[in-house]
Amino acid sequence: MSAHSDKFVSSGPVAEINLSALCENFDILNASAGGAETAAVVKCNAYGLGVAPIATALARRSGCATFFVAYPEEGVALRDAIHPHAPDAKIYVFNGPGTDSLEMFGAARLTPVINTIEQGALWARANPGASAALHVDTGMNRLGAPPESLGEFLAMEDFNIDLFMSHLACASAPSHPMNQRQRELFVSLAERLPGVRRSLAASAGVLMGGDYGFDLTRPGIALYGASPFDHETDQLRPVLRLTAPIVQVRSIKAGETVGYGATFTAPRATTIATVKIGYGDGLPVSGSGKLSVIVHGKRTPLIGRISMDLICIEAPQGDRPPRQGDTVELIGETIGVFEAAQRCSVLPYEMLTGLGGRVVRRYV
Ligand SMILES: *Cc1c(COP(=O)(O)O)cnc(C)c1O
Repeated sequence: MSAHSDKFVSSGPVAEINLSALCENFDILNASAGGAETAAVVKCNAYGLGVAPIATALARRSGCATFFVAYPEEGVALRDAIHPHAPDAKIYVFNGPGTDSLEMFGAARLTPVINTIEQGALWARANPGASAALHVDTGMNRLGAPPESLGEFLAMEDFNIDLFMSHLACASAPSHPMNQRQRELFVSLAERLPGVRRSLAASAGVLMGGDYGFDLTRPGIALYGASPFDHETDQLRPVLRLTAPIVQVRSIKAGETVGYGATFTAPRATTIATVKIGYGDGLPVSGSGKLSVIVHGKRTPLIGRISMDLICIEAPQGDRPPRQGDTVELIGETIGVFEAAQRCSVLPYEMLTGLGGRVVRRYV
């Protein structure tokens, strides 16, 4: 939301972000890391929650000293935000450098993650002896150098590897045999880089138990209170509370329909509350007819199709009927990010990063 609107109380959706819960999650992950250092992955604007306040809280309250972003531009913004609080923080950039971004790496003191021979040569030529992480792909076949090319990196002049990393493809399913296979390959490759720190685990790798911590862990989603697994977990504290106000309450007769496409027909006389949030704010349309919200402590279903700015809910009956201006909770203690995402058939990651620009972020 633009700066001038911060002066006004939000009239629309609000994402309340609990920085104490964030730091508690950091501590939980740190305690599960088997003695490894815990870094924070804050790419994509800290999964949509706001990189400056998130990284500042982690640096100041939890002593987090290492961060990962995806783009150098994200690294520049992060450096600006945390410089006053943690001037020596280390910032790694997953995607690595290109000729057009080398300057940003220098200006913001960013450390690249090198994924290809070309990137390695570019970095070593531009900054001889400057440290870099090396990402070797142990089976995901997404980003990272093939294991066969390790020798070429080791022989590269002026190339100084300070972190050897890889990424697990199936950690969301802890019993998947691929986890152990990737771990074994990672360990055997790392033997060729004695003394270099090792990093394999993201959130799921930290929380699934077993020996995945090595020297540095890279959790993202778990910091933000959402399960990294294919199932819900009670190991984490919820960080996000997403609310929106009711803009109108109306009564409809049996047989009347609600919303675009008239997908909902009232089986009886029904009170409908219309709420100021929609797919323009990141609520996937696939949640139509599937999501629930909390009104006055009661769970109540969405009805009809989610539209850009609005949703409709069936107003719960009782001694305190919902009224215009009342607040509806879409995500919070009762309905977590994981459940909301599952009802929309999206990943918790998409739910968080999809939060729209109109949603006012408020930090508590
Ligand atoms: C995004 C990312 C992470 C963080 O993953 P989570 O599942 O959010 O913990 C770690 N490592 C790499 C390489 C990533 O791309």
